[in-house]
Amino acid sequence: MTTFVSSKWARVAEKVTVSKMTRPRSPLVYSPEYSVQSWPREHRFVMSKFHDLAESLREDGYLTGPHVHVPEYPSESLIERVHDPGYVRAFNNGTLDDKNLREIGFRGLWSPELVRRTNLEVAGTVLAAELALERGLACNLGGGTHHAHRDRGSGFTIFNDLAVAAVALLDKGVDRVLICDLDVHQGDGTASIFEERPEVCTFSMHCQSNFPFRKIQSTLDIGLEDGVGDEEYLRILKDQLPFVLKAFQPEFVLYDAGVDPHVDDELGKLNLTDDGLFARDVFVITECLSRGMPVAGVIGGGYHRDRRVLGRRHSILHRAAEAVWEQQSIASKSWA
Ligand SMILES: [Zn+2]
Repeated sequence: MTTFVSSKWARVAEKVTVSKMTRPRSPLVYSPEYSVQSWPREHRFVMSKFHDLAESLREDGYLTGPHVHVPEYPSESLIERVHDPGYVRAFNNGTLDDKNLREIGFRGLWSPELVRRTNLEVAGTVLAAELALERGLACNLGGGTHHAHRDRGSGFTIFNDLAVAAVALLDKGVDRVLICDLDVHQGDGTASIFEERPEVCTFSMHCQSNFPFRKIQSTLDIGLEDGVGDEEYLRILKDQLPFVLKAFQPEFVLYDAGVDPHVDDELGKLNLTDDGLFARDVFVITECLSRGMPVAGVIGGGYHRDRRVLGRRHSILHRAAEAVWEQQSIASKSWA
């Protein structure tokens, strides 16, 4: 057993589940196709984690009911609002060159199922953004593919769901979108896509010595030293995020809640605990909602051999979202 079961956030979240079975819940977006079935077990990217995350939420009663939404397969034109059409078609048709597949980390692993999951995951984040625009808060059970650039993929990411969702929001008339990226790796793809678009603010708080080794400047980057733990991490976040929200005044926040800052993460280099991640997610969501800024959350990165542990770790975001949703009685609020 991990410390997970006895942790403070798990107890809080459990209470919320039991007492709130009958009221509207915080919207969730998921497709069973997020996980490709035939994927090498030893691959660093744990493809089963979306399934395991869903199982974890289902076991605790979070994933049944009208608040759960399934994304529809997106058009190429939606993805091409951000990505180069030649790149989109090459990936979708299986003609992407080996060099780029190697940079993505998926050399020899292209399949029609990979194309479906990649597109559906982007559609899931766009759907979560649309739901959050209506209801205030929604979370995808995938997403956070922040290393994908306009014309190439990188670091296990192919199309940039955060960027596509941000542009979809701008197309809907939202004036200013903040991408709050707390994955342990810097959001270089997102930063490059929005380098010259001041209506999207990119805020990345990451481990400075970690991948990508060539960072691309976000609107605001906070590069943390190796080994930062809960207390210091939360102190810095509580100092920086309110400043960003006040200065930029976003009308919408896309939140990448990567769990790879966790102490047991295989790639992370930071020392956050389950409780620290729960406190982080509650803080981010509460800070935005209390200012009337809707939030769509995505899961971002997380690396651990034990798929059950990893799936449960990713569920911290959805449990935190539900806890805030309940506290703020957000379901009765009008966001339209
Ligand atoms: Zn990451």
